[in-house]
Amino acid sequence: MDMRCQNLQWTVMQASSKRALHLGACTECGSVTWRDTEDEVDPAVAMEQVFGSFELVAQMPAVRAPGAVVLAYRPPNRRSALVLDALKPGRWMEGQPGLWMSTDGVLLLLSPNDPIFVANLTRGA
Ligand SMILES: [Zn+2]
Repeated sequence: MDMRCQNLQWTVMQASSKRALHLGACTECGSVTWRDTEDEVDPAVAMEQVFGSFELVAQMPAVRAPGAVVLAYRPPNRRSALVLDALKPGRWMEGQPGLWMSTDGVLLLLSPNDPIFVANLTRGA
């Protein structure tokens, strides 16, 4: 039952870890797949691995975003900021179902469409 999109564009999201993490995304059908060097990775786990150390700095209404709100995150250091190069300003990719990601070039922008996601992502902020 392999119905997956054959049109994925692959980007290395985390080359420095033992198991490099790759993001495959299709701009046509919106498919997103995360893989490491060996296998597929759960999207929630992958996003936590790549962005887990980012700090929530702002929450905005989703005026030009697919989700309910836009959450802006600051990378903890220069090296972490490099993953933002894989994202394109103004272009939203569905990093995991119901959670879109983008950047303004400086900050990570996440746009969740589910209030539960919003609550989880803003907890403790
Ligand atoms: Zn596709």
